[in-house]
Amino acid sequence: MVVGVLALQGSFNEHIAVLKRLGVKGVEVRKAEQLQNVNSLIIPGGESTTMAKLAEYHNLFPALREFVKMGKPVWGTCAGLIFLADRATGQKTGGQELVGGLDCTVHRNFFGSQIQSFEADLSVPDIAAKEGGPPIFRGVFIRAPAILDVGPGVEVLANIPVSSDKYASSDLSLQGQKENSDSGKEVIVAVRQGNLLATAFHPELTADNRWHTYFLKMTSDVGEGALASVSTPVDD
Ligand code: GLN
Repeated sequence: MVVGVLALQGSFNEHIAVLKRLGVKGVEVRKAEQLQNVNSLIIPGGESTTMAKLAEYHNLFPALREFVKMGKPVWGTCAGLIFLADRATGQKTGGQELVGGLDCTVHRNFFGSQIQSFEADLSVPDIAAKEGGPPIFRGVFIRAPAILDVGPGVEVLANIPVSSDKYASSDLSLQGQKENSDSGKEVIVAVRQGNLLATAFHPELTADNRWHTYFLKMTSDVGEGALASVSTPVDD
């Protein structure tokens, strides 16, 4: 199994280090043709407008969209989640290009700027049921986005409570968000839609490997047979 990690900008080294810890080959992907030699792809966190400009410069968007359409597993973390979303909103969105495929609306900087970064315990019963361990995952949120709405084919894997003043602030449209009777409102921070996985937080910055092992199972479920070509060597 070979897992590609989009290596234009952001925390790609950290993902490759986790894959190595798990005994899986992770390779840096910077060119469209390299996607032919990986079973799945991680799009890391970083800064999504910068990443989009680099992806455009390297003419990667058509190949990334094709990869998603072929049903290959793709996991977007943070800026990677923004890349995968069909719709993005929030300050400085500026019409940046998206890969799309994930039927959701993402707010790019929902939780605020860098200094409003935080850690929080997330309830992750589905991940714990599949990967073992406690039903809680410590999420690291760095200038994090949040998912404001999802289509019917999207499975929600984690939510986080938000204060009602944030919820009510004028640039948000949170219609359809779940009401949590204990703490008011919630936004979605992890989802799966078929071959697509997306998290608003950074599992690669923790010692808890369960999101990676979950994604590796998605990759092995698709199977080695899905490797499009082995003729072009992958740079690593
Ligand atoms: N909110 C950031 C963006 O718009 C993403 C932050 C991150 O990836 N840690 O790109």
